[in-house]
Amino acid sequence: MKCRHCNHLLSLSFVDLGVMPPSNAYLGCEADFEKEVSFPLNILVCDKCWLVQTEDFTRADELFTDDYAYLSSTSSSWVEHAKQFVDGLVECRSLNAESFVVELAANDGYLLQHVVKKGIPCLGIEPTSVAAEIAKSKGVEIQECFFGLEQANRLLKDYPKADAIIGNNVLAHVPDINDFVSGIATILAKTGVLSLEFPHLLNLIKFKQFDTIYHEHFSYLSLTAVSNILASVGLEVFNVEKLSTHGGSLRVWAQHSGHTLKVSRNVFNVLEEEQKFGMCLHETYQNFTHSVDAISRDLKTFLQKAKASNKKIVAYGAAAKGNTLLNYACVDVLDVPVVFDAADSKQGKFMPASHIPILPPSELKHYSPDYVLILPWNIAHEIIAVVKPLVPETCKFVTAIPELSVI
Ligand SMILES: [Zn+2]
Repeated sequence: MKCRHCNHLLSLSFVDLGVMPPSNAYLGCEADFEKEVSFPLNILVCDKCWLVQTEDFTRADELFTDDYAYLSSTSSSWVEHAKQFVDGLVECRSLNAESFVVELAANDGYLLQHVVKKGIPCLGIEPTSVAAEIAKSKGVEIQECFFGLEQANRLLKDYPKADAIIGNNVLAHVPDINDFVSGIATILAKTGVLSLEFPHLLNLIKFKQFDTIYHEHFSYLSLTAVSNILASVGLEVFNVEKLSTHGGSLRVWAQHSGHTLKVSRNVFNVLEEEQKFGMCLHETYQNFTHSVDAISRDLKTFLQKAKASNKKIVAYGAAAKGNTLLNYACVDVLDVPVVFDAADSKQGKFMPASHIPILPPSELKHYSPDYVLILPWNIAHEIIAVVKPLVPETCKFVTAIPELSVI
């Protein structure tokens, strides 16, 4: 396979997680178990441009179906994160009723609702109709489509160029990253700014976050790689911020190359940090599989020991990342009989491959668990606050990454 950005032949392996169903392919009923489809999940590294990427097996339209269940507003901390971002953006770019803001992958309007409230014209691009309908109900205008150069040219017939383009956790999810950034450069106004957030590959490796790897997540991004990809379409990174979201993300700010905003020292600092970490060295990637195997083994052993001691275990948070962890560690419904999740769209369904049933948190009080395995470790504090009143005082909380932790 050749690199999706630079076409260089890919020969360096990062990690091979075997064969798995798409991590958002929740199953509606037991009859669906037999029809479940799985695809190889093998991650490769380009040792020319350092884009880390899934091996090609699945098409985007197979992964993002109408019942794609992830809704951003389910996480209250994420909605608050979005509100703070909008407040900052509007202030620093002096956005007003004459401006135009575009969000790519606007999801359920978790972010643009705050732009609408400020009276600033905006448009969301969102391919999944379940999320799009919710966004529309919040007063957010949505175009239901995937985004790329073709869609960008089509948008320009009906809308002005954008003073700000926002893409939170979407760059990693697009299969054709070159086409996506070409589209961005096309609709970005001459003086406009682009803000992209994505989980930082450096943290994925450092903190062993292998459960953030899944088919829908085509790229694993460093500033080194993203700077090159944006430069290829005439965009220049002028600032970067480190965020705590999703286990450590980067928010990259870009503009048309040579435009007025001065390039921040932050950009050089993060690029230097990546170099020192070994982002461009083969051995950084070659050692990752050992970490993944150790985490999986520790989790499975813990669950088996707890079960042998007649302890009751449940899981919380039917997140995509939970599916990668459970499936690679061979955890199934015999180890963890139930997972609780606040999202209506997931309740009553089953986790892919592990077939663990998903119930609403209100049911938790009937289970009296000894342990709650928290799958979305990045929002563990938020989950513990919600779950604590529903479980016995002696109940302990377990996370598996970066290492098994019981508190
Ligand atoms: Zn490449």
